[in-house]
Amino acid sequence: MDYRIVPSVCSYCGTGCGVLFEVMDGQLVRTLPMKTHPVNEGKLCIKGWNLHEYINSDMRLTSPMLKIYGRFHKVGWDEAISETAGRLQAIVEKYGPDSVGVLVSAKMTNEENYVAQKFARAVIGTNNVDHCARL
Ligand code: SF4
Repeated sequence: MDYRIVPSVCSYCGTGCGVLFEVMDGQLVRTLPMKTHPVNEGKLCIKGWNLHEYINSDMRLTSPMLKIYGRFHKVGWDEAISETAGRLQAIVEKYGPDSVGVLVSAKMTNEENYVAQKFARAVIGTNNVDHCARL
């Protein structure tokens, strides 16, 4: 049996609690709070305690989905990105850049949030950018 403890950071919110993942034979089996982490000092909220549940869930999306005639179909990243870019371009051409809004998330890194707002402003041409932490 291969047993390891892997330190990480909870991805559920922007607090950034330190966690320890128990990994057995390549499977994540349990999440523990990191006692020495300066943010959470050995504590986790209920979402953090259950991080391993969603990683192993068969309901988790593992590939892009494209809705065709009301039904979702798995597609590759190239097709998903091409389809999204084409539809965004058509919306901007027809209704203008301010018809588009970009919503970012506390689950994203600062760098990802920066890239998303840059995409909205420099590529789409809108200042319609919002963040879940403002709700
Ligand atoms: S354990 Fe809870 S408070 Fe800490 S980062 Fe995860 S979701 Fe946020």
